[in-house]
Amino acid sequence: MRVLKFGGTSLANAERFLRVADIVVSNQCQGPVSLVLSAPAKITNHLVAVVEDTVAKGEAEIHIGEIERIFTELFHGLAQAESKLDSAPLFQALEKLVGQLKQYLHGIQLLGLCPDNVYAKIICKGERLSIAAMKAVLEARGHQAYIIDPVQYLVGHDDYLESMIDIERSTLNFRANPIPQNHVGLMAGFTAGNNKGELVTLGRNGSDYSAAVLAACLRADCCEIWTDVDGVYSCDPRLVPDARLLKSLSYQEAMELSYFGAKVLHPKTIAPIAQFQIPCLIKNSFNPQAPGTLIGQDAGEDGLAIKGITTLDKLTMVNVSGPGMKGMVGMASRVFGAMSQAGVSIVLITQSSSEYSISFCIEQEDRDRAEQALYSSFELELKDGLLEPVEFIEDLAIISLVGDGMRTSRGVASQFFTALAEMNINVVAIAQGSSERAISAVIPAENVSSAVKACHQNLFNANHALDVFVIGVGGVGGALVDQISRQGEKLLGQGIEIRVCALHSIDQRLLNADGISLNDWRGQLEQSSGAFELSDLINMVRRNHIINPVIVDCTSSQAIADQYADFLAAGFHVITPNKKANTASMNYYHQLRQAARGTRRKFMYETTVGAGLPVIENLQNLIAAGDELVRFNGILSGSLSYIFGKLDEGMTFSQATGVAKDNGFTEPDPRDDLSGMDVARKLLILARESGLELELDDVQVEPALPPGFDASGSVEQFMARLPEADAYFTEQAGKAAAEGKVLRYVGEIDQGKCVVRIMAVDGDDPMFKIKDGENALAFYSRYYQPIPLVLRGYGAGTEVTAAGVFSDLMRTVGWKLGV
Ligand code: ADP
Ligand code: ASP
Ligand code: MG
Repeated sequence: MRVLKFGGTSLANAERFLRVADIVVSNQCQGPVSLVLSAPAKITNHLVAVVEDTVAKGEAEIHIGEIERIFTELFHGLAQAESKLDSAPLFQALEKLVGQLKQYLHGIQLLGLCPDNVYAKIICKGERLSIAAMKAVLEARGHQAYIIDPVQYLVGHDDYLESMIDIERSTLNFRANPIPQNHVGLMAGFTAGNNKGELVTLGRNGSDYSAAVLAACLRADCCEIWTDVDGVYSCDPRLVPDARLLKSLSYQEAMELSYFGAKVLHPKTIAPIAQFQIPCLIKNSFNPQAPGTLIGQDAGEDGLAIKGITTLDKLTMVNVSGPGMKGMVGMASRVFGAMSQAGVSIVLITQSSSEYSISFCIEQEDRDRAEQALYSSFELELKDGLLEPVEFIEDLAIISLVGDGMRTSRGVASQFFTALAEMNINVVAIAQGSSERAISAVIPAENVSSAVKACHQNLFNANHALDVFVIGVGGVGGALVDQISRQGEKLLGQGIEIRVCALHSIDQRLLNADGISLNDWRGQLEQSSGAFELSDLINMVRRNHIINPVIVDCTSSQAIADQYADFLAAGFHVITPNKKANTASMNYYHQLRQAARGTRRKFMYETTVGAGLPVIENLQNLIAAGDELVRFNGILSGSLSYIFGKLDEGMTFSQATGVAKDNGFTEPDPRDDLSGMDVARKLLILARESGLELELDDVQVEPALPPGFDASGSVEQFMARLPEADAYFTEQAGKAAAEGKVLRYVGEIDQGKCVVRIMAVDGDDPMFKIKDGENALAFYSRYYQPIPLVLRGYGAGTEVTAAGVFSDLMRTVGWKLGV
C-alpha cells in the first residue's frame, strides 16, 4: 500500500484536480493506493476568515461567496471534462455546506464568539468536498473508491484545533474495518475524531500529518506528499530562486527543517513515518516525472553538510534574569511550567552560562499570555528584586541551518555567522541542539530575507555574485562596462557572476536589479533619463535583498565623492579612481574608513595612483607587515612623464606639450596637468596611506612651468604663450645634461613633507629612465633600503585604469572567499 497526499495547490482548480486523478490512476496500476486530500487552495483560509469576520463584524458574505465560487467553478470544470461524471451530488453537497455555514454563523453572531469545537467543524469543510469530488472523478473513470472517515478511523486527543493521533488505537480501527480490495482509499486530511467521537483538527497545514498517520496505520510501503515544487529545497525557493533541490534527507533532518519553518512539510509529519521507517517522498504534481526528495533513514548521498536554511518569524524573545536566578534550583522548571500552564509554546531556549538569565522565543501572539503567567508566578521574586522586570524583545525571527553532516564538518557555524555579519545583521541569541544537527540564530524579523539570501550564498553557492552600480560612464567607466561585458561569461565559468545593476551618466540612468543587458548599453542609456539618487539605489538593494552591492564612481565629481561615507554606511562597497574623496579633509578620510569598518564594506581606490599599477595594495601590505615609509619619490603623471622625456630628446617644452595635448595624453586643458595639482593629490594619497596626517594645502607644489609664468587666459591663448617657457626649460635641461642628469617632474615625500617639483636626476635614480608616459614609484622604507622598492609601468589611459578598477572589483570577491 502506498499513501499519496495532495495539497491545496495541487487541487486548486478543475485542471489540476484532473491531473491529480491521472497521477492516482497511473499509480494505482502499480499496486493499492490510498489518498489524503487537502481542501482546494485558499478554501481553508476563507473558512477561517468566515469565522473571524463573523466574530468581529457579524457578517462574512464575501468569504462565503468566494468559497461558493471556487467550488462551483471546480465542479463545472470536472463535469465538462468527465462526460460520465454526475455533478448533481457535488452541487448538493456544496449547497448543504453553505447552509450549514450560515447556521453556524448565526450561532456565532448570537454568542459573539466561536467555541473551538464549532471552529474545528467549520474549517475542515473544504477537505470533505475535495474527497467527494475525487470520488466522483475516479468513479466516472471506472475505479472504485472507499471513503475513510477520519473521525471514525483516527483517534486523536481532545485538543479540537491541534490534536495528535494515537497510532496504535487508530491502527486497530483500520484492522477492524479494512479498505476493501481494489478500492482507492480516500481520506480527508486535517481531521480526526476524539475519544467522544467528536471532530478535531490537526493544526493548519495538518494534512501532511494526516498522510503520515494513515501511512503508519496501514504500515504503508511509502508515503508520498505531492505538492507544487519538485521536492524539498535548500531554502524556500520563492525567496532564493537558485535554491538547491535535495535528493534525500534523513528523518531527523526533515524534522528539524520543518520545525524551523520549511513550509513544504508539517513538523508533525515525520514522527509517525520515522517510527515505522516508512520512506517518504516529496513530489511535484505539476511535474510528476521529477524524482522528488526522499526522506528516509539516512541523509543520503547529496554530500551536503548543510541541507537547508529555514526561518520562522513573528516571534518575541522573553528574557528572565536577575540576581536571584543564580543557583536557585528549579528556576527553569518554574519558568517553563508557567509557560506550559498558560498554553504558550516555546520555540527556542538559550541560557547564559552564568545562570543569570534564561531567554526563550515564543510566538508573538502569545506574548500577553506569557507576560501574565510570568508576573503571577514570580510576583514575590519581582517585588523583592530577585528578578529584574521581564524583558520582551519584539519582531524577531529565527534563521536555522540544518544538516546531519554539520557534526563532522568544521567551519559551518563560522560561515553562517560571517554571512550574517556581512549583512550587518544583529544576532540577538544563538542556539545549537546537542545533536549538532541544527544551529539557529535569533535576528530582527526585518532582516530575515536578506539573512537567508546571504547565508545561502555563503553556504550553498559556489558562484559569487557582485552587483555593480556604476556612476560615470565616460572614458574609464565606459571602458569598465565594456570589459565586464566582454569578461562576463568567462568569469561565470569561474564562479563569479557580475551583474551591472545601474549605469549613470550626468542626466541619464539605467536601473535593473536583475542586471542590465550590456549589449548596446550605450544606446539604452542614451534613451533614458534621470539623475543619480542614492536613495533609489538603497531601495533597490533592500527590495531585492542584494548581498554584495558595489558602487563604482568613475566621475571626477567632488559632490559624489562627498557621499562615499553615506554609500558605505548604506552597505555598499565603494570602488573609485576618483581622487577627490581621499584628498578631502583628514576628518573625512577617517570618517570613510570608520564607515567601511562599521558596515564591513570595502573602500578601494587602487587606481587613484598609478592607474592600473598595484601601488596602494603593495604599500598597504608593506605597512601592515610593520614596514615604515622613510622616503618616496616618483613620477606620478603620465602626461608630464611624456613631456619631460621629450625634453631629453631635444624637443622644446612647448612642442612637447603640444604633441602630448594632440595625442590626448594631457587633460583637454594642459594647465590641469602642468599646475601639478593632480600629482599633488596622488602624493597626498600615498602620504596618508603611509600614515601621515596631512591636508592638501600641506603639499608644496611647484607647477611644471617657469617661476612666475603667466598661465591665464583661454587654452588657445595659453598654448600660444607657451613658447615663452622654452628658453627656461632649454637652459635647465642643458644645465642638468652637463652634470649627466635629466629633468623630471617628481613628487617626493621626505621626513613627513610632501613636495611636487621639477628635479634634475642622475643615472642612478630610478626616475632617470622614466619617459613616454611611464610612471615610476620608488619607495624607500625600513625594509627597502638603500635600494628602493620600485613600481613602474604605464600609469595612465582609460583601458589600464578600467582594468585596475576591475581588479578592485575582483578583490571584493577574493576578500569574501577569504583568499
Ligand atoms: P501544499 O498546498 O501542497 O500543502 P504548501 O504551500 O503547504 O503546499 O507547501 C509547498 C510550498 O512550501 C512551496 O510552494 C514552497 O514555496 C514552500 N517552501 C518553503 N520552504 C521550502 C523548502 N525548503 N523546500 C520546498 N518548498 C518550500
Ligand atoms: N487545508 C488545511 C490548511 O490549509 C490543511 C492542509 O491543507 O494541510 O491548513
Ligand atoms: Mg502544506
